[in-house]
Amino acid sequence: MRRKPLIAGNWKMYKTKDDALAFIYAVNVEVPDKDVVESVICAPAIFLKDLVKREGENLRIGAQNMHYAEEGAYTGEISAAMLKSYGVDYVIVGHSERRAYFNETDETVNLKLISAVNVDITPIVCVGESLEIREAGTTNQVVKKQIEKAYLNVSAQDALKTVVAYEPIWAIGTGVTATPEQANETIIAIRSVIKKLYNEEVSEQIRILYGGSVNTKNVDSLLSMSDIDGALVGGASLDPNSFLTLVRAA
Ligand code: PGA
Repeated sequence: MRRKPLIAGNWKMYKTKDDALAFIYAVNVEVPDKDVVESVICAPAIFLKDLVKREGENLRIGAQNMHYAEEGAYTGEISAAMLKSYGVDYVIVGHSERRAYFNETDETVNLKLISAVNVDITPIVCVGESLEIREAGTTNQVVKKQIEKAYLNVSAQDALKTVVAYEPIWAIGTGVTATPEQANETIIAIRSVIKKLYNEEVSEQIRILYGGSVNTKNVDSLLSMSDIDGALVGGASLDPNSFLTLVRAA
C-alpha cells in the first residue's frame, strides 16, 4: 500500500518571531492538500503557540523536543500534555543533535515516544549512524539497536502512530547527502527490524523519512526511492519557497 508522504521542516534554533510568522503566512496559502502530502514545521518551543494559532488547513506545527515525564519538577522543560494543550501535533524525538549535546539516549527516546503517543502527538523518531560507523560497515546493526530500544514496550497499534526519520549524522548540515540508494537501503533495513518487532502490516504502513542535507535539488531522487516516504529537512526548510518546493516534490 502507498504511504502518504510527509515533509517535516526542522527549524532548529533559527528565526525570530517576525521571521517565523512571515514564513507561516507565506506558506499557509500555498501548501498542497494534506490528504496528498503532510507538511509539518517543527519550530522552537517559544513560537509554537503563535504558529499553531495561524496554521492553515494543510500545514501542521510540531515541536523539536519535549520531556518524557507527564509532569514534575523539571525546570525549563515542556511536557507532551503541554504541547497537546496548545494544539501541537508532532514532536521530533531523539534528533542526533539532542543525543550529542543534551544527553538524549535510546532510553529517553523510548520514554518520549510513549509519552507523545499517549497524548496523541505523532513522534518523529530519529535514528542514524556516525561517519565512523558508516565507514566500519556496521550501520545496519547500530540503527537496528536504536529502533529496538526506541520501540521497547510499544504496541503495534501505537507504533503505527509514529514516524521514523533515518538521519545519518554525517549528512546533517554538512551538504553531504546519503545517495538515494544508501538511504533507501538503510530504510529497508529499518523496515525489516520493524517487521521483526511487530508484523508486516506495521512495517509496510509505518512511514520512514530520510533526513540529512535534503534540498530542492536532491529531493526528487530521494523521494523516488521505494521505501523513502518523505524528508526531515533542516537548512532547506527555513526559506518558504524552498520548503514549498520540497513539499510539492512529495
Ligand atoms: P539538514 O538537517 O537538512 O540541515 O541537514 C536535517 C536535520 O537535522 O533534521
